[in-house]
Amino acid sequence: MAGFETLAIHSGQPSDPVTGAVVPPLHLATTFAQSAVGVHRGFEYSRTGNPTRAALETCIASLEGAAFGRAFASGLAAEDAVLRTLDPGDHLVVGDNLYGGTHRLLAQVHTQLRFSPVALDDLSAAERAWRPETRLVWVETPSNPYLRVADLAALADLAHARGARLVVDNTFATPYLQSPLALGADLVVHSTTKYLGGHSDVVGGFVATNAPEIAADVARLQNSVGAVPSPFDCFLVLRGVKTLAVRMERHCANAGRVAAMLADHDAVDTVYYPGLPAHPGHAIAARQMRGFGGMVSFTLHGGEPAALEVAASTQLFTLAESLGAVESLIEHPSRMTHASVAGSPFAVDPALLRLSVGIEDGDDLLEDLDRALSTIG
Ligand SMILES: *Cc1c(COP(=O)(O)O)cnc(C)c1O
Repeated sequence: MAGFETLAIHSGQPSDPVTGAVVPPLHLATTFAQSAVGVHRGFEYSRTGNPTRAALETCIASLEGAAFGRAFASGLAAEDAVLRTLDPGDHLVVGDNLYGGTHRLLAQVHTQLRFSPVALDDLSAAERAWRPETRLVWVETPSNPYLRVADLAALADLAHARGARLVVDNTFATPYLQSPLALGADLVVHSTTKYLGGHSDVVGGFVATNAPEIAADVARLQNSVGAVPSPFDCFLVLRGVKTLAVRMERHCANAGRVAAMLADHDAVDTVYYPGLPAHPGHAIAARQMRGFGGMVSFTLHGGEPAALEVAASTQLFTLAESLGAVESLIEHPSRMTHASVAGSPFAVDPALLRLSVGIEDGDDLLEDLDRALSTIG
């Protein structure tokens, strides 16, 4: 099989057979001509299937080593489709460090399901939370915003031994850095809004799997619920994916430098980055990831006031939610991305700042952070 970079650029994207265009055309048509009733070229109606979306689905599925992949209108729409495959009363063991919107979807929308938040970097905690009706283990690794690392092969074994499935939110790692299906996971979900799109200009989601029965369910839900991305959204994500490998290399390099600088800084209390040897998940990350990613979180000795001051002082690091694009961002999880989990087991330290380290010049990024940290003395 072709290498990752080759698949990213070519999978699902042959030259257009009609014009020779080397980029998949943006197919805006909502409906497709049939030569006789029921006789068509694979597309009938764009909610059900669209050629631009099909190119994206083939491409990302191949990057995840999946036989099957479906694109959704957002990461949460993709997660929603996975949760809809469950029956009322089914139970999930979920990481206790989770994207806030995933928690909201479980707690406020899929109220027919039960879930137990658990520190999934500790397998015995998952075992203790297990119930007879547990059907899914849901994990982010590295997690948001603490960059905790879970052992995917071990979690997959645990889930399978008890008749459940493992879902991995691979948004932070991307398929370039981590291949959950190869490690035994049953499903991968993505917010393609982040690294896969990579340019902060499109919202999207994805589900990938090798299990035919899950694939059939997800395809049915994609069509029946209809949370599909527009053809232009698909075009943008597909364009982003072409450079994923080179972008991730720079994200990792810059984030590694930022983490080392912060770990050395007097104003900084704890740095959370799986690439630091002191990180509790470092050994597992080194084994199951190709690099340590572009996300870095840290707390300050000065607590929340210092965190708010630094967040307001950086210039290159833009104060904004989201992550995974070429430009560097800084945010304050407890008041921004994780505000909806305040008071729950998912709540985060108000002294915490989260960086999405971009692909700018690394020296400029270090200088910007150093200047902002000097404002708090
Ligand atoms: C952003 C994000 C989501 C949700 O994706 P949307 O595209 O915003 O709906 C899910 N999981 C993680 C880890 C995320 O960062």
